[in-house]
Amino acid sequence: MTSEAKPRIAILGGGPAGSAFALSMVSRGVDPKDLVVIDKARFPRKKLCGGGVTFRGTELLRELVGKPVGGGETKGLEFLSSVGRFEVREKGPQWIHDRAELDHQLIEAVRARGVAIREGETVTAIEPAHDAIAVTTKGTKERIERFAWVIGADGANGLSRRASGLRGGIVGRLVEGVFEAKDAREQADTLYFDFDPICDRIPGYAWIFPYFVGGSLVGWKIGVMDGRGVVPGETLRAWTQRYAEERGYRLTEDKIAGFPERYWDWRTRGHREGLVLIGEAYGIDALLGEGIAPAMYSAVYAAERVKEALDRGVRTIGAYERGFAMSAEGRNLWFQARLADRIYGRHPERWLRVLFGMEHLKRLAGAGNDAYGRLLGHMPALVARYALQVVREGIPSAAPVERLPAPPRA
Ligand SMILES: Cc1cc2nc3c(=O)[nH]c(=O)nc-3n(C[C@H](O)[C@H](O)[C@H](O)COP(=O)(O)OP(=O)(O)OC[C@H]3O[C@@H](n4cnc5c(N)ncnc54)[C@H](O)[C@@H]3O)c2cc1C
Repeated sequence: MTSEAKPRIAILGGGPAGSAFALSMVSRGVDPKDLVVIDKARFPRKKLCGGGVTFRGTELLRELVGKPVGGGETKGLEFLSSVGRFEVREKGPQWIHDRAELDHQLIEAVRARGVAIREGETVTAIEPAHDAIAVTTKGTKERIERFAWVIGADGANGLSRRASGLRGGIVGRLVEGVFEAKDAREQADTLYFDFDPICDRIPGYAWIFPYFVGGSLVGWKIGVMDGRGVVPGETLRAWTQRYAEERGYRLTEDKIAGFPERYWDWRTRGHREGLVLIGEAYGIDALLGEGIAPAMYSAVYAAERVKEALDRGVRTIGAYERGFAMSAEGRNLWFQARLADRIYGRHPERWLRVLFGMEHLKRLAGAGNDAYGRLLGHMPALVARYALQVVREGIPSAAPVERLPAPPRA
């Protein structure tokens, strides 16, 4: 290959963010030969994840690659806790995928567009070089290459944020295992989010999701999120094991695994000359840790901005972070981060009572007219109705919540 034929843009990481960026660049008219995806893994690769994609994510996936095969569908979400429960119905179903299957289909769609994918190569260094960024990779051999643009799509644990020194958001700690249902009562058409960990001083929620492989239900994914990263992993594992057993589930893997998450906030930085961060390297939803949809939306946003920069022959993007914060997804992530600050903050029990006590919110959530994570537009009405409720009933107490026992088995 001559030096002119070398790709100008290196995408570090081939998860949903890296794939969505590549697809979006090609659909904007960028020559696929100008792009290369570098990933340390070989696809299909494992990724610890519940695999739930809410409606706005399914819309974007459909736009990028069509409906992926092999997953399952759920008809809604259920939020529960010892202070109440309510259903969340979206404009359409949620999709739920094994991440090895989903990410493989995405990366194959990128390959099919003519983009080179280099698997089994770990990025070990990223350094500014004159008019370029030098990327060092280690696969079968070590190599150093210069790219005009580097796209950091290497996830929560990636090198790109660390190497670029850009400020990141809070890092949470999650554990998850695959279970079989013995006499459990949860339905495979619903994603369950249980906020009771808050009663046990875990600032987060537990989830019970159906697990589909090849389109068949093969088990359940159960885990807990510590949205502030303050509880030891061992405590989270023991908590999850107990929680699952109380509800009639049995672990079918040898262990409950753990992985971090990095959350987005308006202070998060994502750009310096010749480099942008996208996906979880940039930051995801701080309330539920939903990352697949935010990863793809930030990737599509970045593709638009990088394409503009390429067209203008520049390597800096004005107001990269502000532009994202003003987008529909950025506004959503801002809203989720504010809610997370409250529910996982100083008076979590009060905010738990607020969340489960807002009649207007419950009606909106159950109406099926919106997409999850797009409720910001209803804020004025929510605040007004809630103020009325407070006038009538007073401010919810911050006293400890009395933990209800696990519900009876099926
Ligand atoms: C337990 C758990 C449950 C979750 N459940 C859900 C859920 O149900 N729904 C949801 O929407 N989100 C969920 N998430 C979050 C979601 O998994 C992530 O936010 C999402 O994968 C982010 O996509 P990404 O493309 O940014 O990064 P990733 O999917 O993490 O991809 C990053 C890629 O970069 C590669 N890489 C990393 N470092 C290097 C390197 N040095 N060199 C080369 N390659 C590198 C990796 O191999 C990987 O392929 C969950 C997370 C956890 C931990």
